Amino acid sequence: MCGIIGLVSKDEFSVRDELLKCLARLEYRGYDSWGYAAYDGAVVKRVGGIGNNTKGITDMKTTVAISHTRWATHGEVTQSNAHPHSNSKKTIFAVHNGIIINNRQIKERLMKKGYKFVSETDSEIIPHYFDYMLSKGKSMKEAICSFISEIEGTFAIVLFRKGDPHLYAIKRDSPLVLGLYDGKGILASDIYAFSDKTNKAVFFDDDEFAVLGMDSYRFYNKSGKLVRKKVCGFEWSREEEKLKHYKHYMIKEIKEQPSASKRLIDSFSTIQKDRLIRFAKLIRMASRVVFVGAGTSYHASLIGVSLLNKLGIESHTIIASEFESFMLVDDKTLVIAISQSGETMDVVTVIKDVLKKGATVASIVNVPYSTIQRYSKLSIEICAGQEVCVASTKTFTNQLITLFAIAAYLGVKEFDLATIPDKIEKTIKTNEGKVRKLARELYRKKDIFVLGKGVSYPMAREIALKLKEIPYIHAEGMMAGELKHGTIALVEKGTPVISLIPNENVDMLSSTREVEARGARSIIISNTDGELHIPKSGDAEFAIYSGIIGHLLSYYIARLKNLPIDKPRNLAKSVTVR
Ligand code: GLU
Repeated sequence: MCGIIGLVSKDEFSVRDELLKCLARLEYRGYDSWGYAAYDGAVVKRVGGIGNNTKGITDMKTTVAISHTRWATHGEVTQSNAHPHSNSKKTIFAVHNGIIINNRQIKERLMKKGYKFVSETDSEIIPHYFDYMLSKGKSMKEAICSFISEIEGTFAIVLFRKGDPHLYAIKRDSPLVLGLYDGKGILASDIYAFSDKTNKAVFFDDDEFAVLGMDSYRFYNKSGKLVRKKVCGFEWSREEEKLKHYKHYMIKEIKEQPSASKRLIDSFSTIQKDRLIRFAKLIRMASRVVFVGAGTSYHASLIGVSLLNKLGIESHTIIASEFESFMLVDDKTLVIAISQSGETMDVVTVIKDVLKKGATVASIVNVPYSTIQRYSKLSIEICAGQEVCVASTKTFTNQLITLFAIAAYLGVKEFDLATIPDKIEKTIKTNEGKVRKLARELYRKKDIFVLGKGVSYPMAREIALKLKEIPYIHAEGMMAGELKHGTIALVEKGTPVISLIPNENVDMLSSTREVEARGARSIIISNTDGELHIPKSGDAEFAIYSGIIGHLLSYYIARLKNLPIDKPRNLAKSVTVR
C-alpha cells in the first residue's frame, strides 16, 4: 500500500511545510513508518505515523525531495526498513510502493558483486540496482529500461541521484500520478496528495516512466520511447478536511452521510444521469453479471447481486482475491468492480485478467481517474468525497445508493432515493444515544455474533467486519439460517448476538428466538420494533440504516477502549498490494 511523494521545483520549497504536508495526506495508505530524502542527501526516517512525530525536523529547504509512508510487506516495522532506501555511497535514494517478487535473486546477484544491504525490505534492491547499472556506464534512462524488463512484481517508484536535479518515476500496477501546479511537479500515489493545490494531473500507465526536471517532464514507454500524455483536469468533491469539533474522522464521516448521499442522488439526475442510463444498458446487454470487490465493497456487491437477481438478471459476486479459482467469465460477461479507492490491487488483478478473456468491465468507485476507473468501459463515481478514516462508512452507504439507483433504473420499484438522506439523518439522531449505552455494555466482550438473512446477511458481515477493524472485537457476521449448522454451539449465557430483522422477516425472528433460548444477549436492529429502531423501508434500504447503527456501535466501543479509531492497527485504506 504505502504512499509515495516526489517533489521537484524551480524555487526552493520547505520539506516540513510542503513535502511532509502532502505526505500526511497519503497517510491513510499506510502508517507503519515514514521518511524523506532531500537533494543534498539528507535522510530522515521515523517509525510510526507522521502525526506529531515531526519533532526536531528542521525547516529545511530544497528543490528536489522524495518521501514515503509505509505499510510493511517485507521486513518488520523498524527504522532501517523505513523508506527512502539508498545505495551504500548514499548517492541514489528511492521510495517504493509495491512488491518486488524476484528481489531475492536480484539481491543475491548484487551481493555477489559486493553490494551490502542494511534492511529486510524488497525495496532496498532498487538503489543498489541503479548504482550497479550506472557503474556499468548505463544512462539513467537505459538503467530504467533494464529495470522494467528485469524486475518482476509491482512498483511505483520515485528516485533521484544526489547532484542531479531530476526525479525519476517508474510504474507498474501500483498507482502513480503527476500533479502540476505553480511551476512544480509532484509525483504521488494518488491525487489526494495534491488535490488541495491543483486539479491538473497526468496519470502513469503500466511500464511507463517519467523524468521530471525543474520546469519540464517527459514520459517514456518501457523501451525508452517518448510517449505523449494527456493532462487531465479532475473533479473531486471533498468535504471540509478538518476534523472541526469531531474527535475522529470516523464519526465525522458517519455524520456527513446525509449530505454525501444527497450529493450522489442529485448527480443521478444531473451530471451522472447519462452514465447511469448507460450502466443499466450494459447490464441489460450482458448475458450475466459478475461483481467483484474486497472487504466492505464486497458486502455492497452482495446487495447488488440480490437486486439484480430480483429482476431476473443472472448475477454473482466473489471476493476479488478468490476470483480466479471460483468464477468463470467470457466475452458476454459484464464484470462490475466496486472499490472505494479504485486502486485495490486484488480487484485490479481480476480486471486485467477478465479483460484478456473478452469480458466488459464497468465500475463503481469513489476516486476519479483511479486505475479501476481507467480500465473500465464505464464508471459511476459515488461522490462521497475524501474519506480519511481507514474504515469505510460514507463510501459504503454511497456504494449502496448507487446500486439502488441502477436497480431502480432497471425496474426495481422499492426505492424513493430522494427520501434516503433524511432517513439517514433520523437513524443517527434516534439511535446515537442508545448505541453509546450499548457500547458501554459490550466493550469488554470477546466475541459478538451478527445474524442476517437475504439483504441483511451482507450487513451482518459488514457490521462484524467493523467490529473487528475498529474496536478489535472478534465478530462473526453470518447467515442466520446457517447458525444451527454449527456456530450455535458457541452461544452461551450472555453471548451478544445482533439480529438484523427487516420487515419482521420470519426466518430472522426464529433464529433470534433460537439464540435467546440459549441465553444469548440478543440485540435487535429492526425497522418495525426492537432495541435499535430504524426508519421504515424496503429490505434493501434496511441495509443502509442498519449499517449506520453497526458503524456507530464499532465507533463508540472503540472510543471506550481508547483505540486509534481512524488508523486501526495493521490496516491501510487503499490496499494496493496482493
Ligand atoms: N514492499 C515495500 C516494503 O515493505 C513497500 C510496501 C508497500 O508498498 O506497501 O517496504
